[in-house]
Amino acid sequence: MSQLPLRAQLASALGRTAATLSRATGRGDGSVIGGRVGLLLEPDLLRKLAHEKKLALVSATNGKTTTTRLIASALQELGEVATNAFGANMPAGHVSALSSNKAAPYGVLEVDEKYLPEVLDTTEAGVVVLMNLSRDQMDRAAEIWLLAQKWRRALAGRPAHVIANCDDPLVTWGASTAARVTWVAGGQRWHEDSWCCPECGGPLDRAEGIVNADWACRECTFSRPEPNWILDGEDAVDPYGHRWRLDLQLPGTANRSNAVIALATAAAFGLEPQRALPRLREVKSVAGRYTTVERDGRVMKLLLAKNPAGWLEAFDVTRPDRPIVLSVNAQGPDGRDTSWLWDVDYRILAGRHVYVTGERRLDLALRLDVAGVGFILVDSFGQAVSALPPGDIDVIANYTAFQSIRTEFGRAV
Ligand SMILES: [Zn+2]
Repeated sequence: MSQLPLRAQLASALGRTAATLSRATGRGDGSVIGGRVGLLLEPDLLRKLAHEKKLALVSATNGKTTTTRLIASALQELGEVATNAFGANMPAGHVSALSSNKAAPYGVLEVDEKYLPEVLDTTEAGVVVLMNLSRDQMDRAAEIWLLAQKWRRALAGRPAHVIANCDDPLVTWGASTAARVTWVAGGQRWHEDSWCCPECGGPLDRAEGIVNADWACRECTFSRPEPNWILDGEDAVDPYGHRWRLDLQLPGTANRSNAVIALATAAAFGLEPQRALPRLREVKSVAGRYTTVERDGRVMKLLLAKNPAGWLEAFDVTRPDRPIVLSVNAQGPDGRDTSWLWDVDYRILAGRHVYVTGERRLDLALRLDVAGVGFILVDSFGQAVSALPPGDIDVIANYTAFQSIRTEFGRAV
């Protein structure tokens, strides 16, 4: 591997120093500050660091941190992998991830949806993974359509090999200008952002109740491409028709979908499923998600859900016989506007012991009341835990609520 130019070496080294200082002073894991310092000194640093790596970029509204982790784990079978494991998914985080492991021949980077065109342009990544697009606390339908359009422009005329979820019409549209696409039928549970054809605005027809049904526009030729890989229940089906039982430690359908996408991505790097799959099975939790914490003999399963599609995925992982605590905050990273709470169908929680807390507990309480779901309002997460009968608990929280529960109740067990 050739050396980085002197200026880039210096920028990268100073970035690492800043990261170390940031960690030492308790200001975070340092992955962003280090990258910022590096980029200030050498604006072209990301391009230089990316230049010699075989790189995959991973983007989506939901599941990108987990899928990045799964792909990185799989590729370790081939060699060292540089990755932004803590979800610092903008260019400063990418610089930091790549400088922390300059010798690694592979890189897997989670990329914020809005930054994907810029990061693709800078890194010239050979593989791009696109999973789902849906509204979140910041973006509404029109904005995610614009985002998909930017993906189309960014991918057109590039040699990148795209791995895309063809069960998401908007992702399909966003990916379809790419020179080469491997289509994965990864399923789509959340349909509210894909009633309309992204190409012409006409209605999309699809069989309801099936997560990976065919879909087609009624008014133009836009339709679901033939998938190369399929998630079928507990199995991945590869392009040769071989079935692979996933047997993941990570729970739920959404993670099985992430795993099939990871297998398809590994295959794009020349890694076959029999070598990739054991690596995926080793992953137990990702940045604290899906972990359990223990307090007073109770085991609490922590689920992060930041937007409507994420809540549906979290419901899929919870157990109907367990009490559930819902915690919603509205600080910067969560978005101040919690009107998206109205987009979620909470009726699945009816009949369960539901506790509601967090800064926006009253908003959520009103929403549950309208949905006819009984609940108990509590002032804090700790109060919910002490009010509950002995036994295990499911917890769904949005970003800062999730972080504060993790801080208060300690790391994973
Ligand atoms: Zn159409």
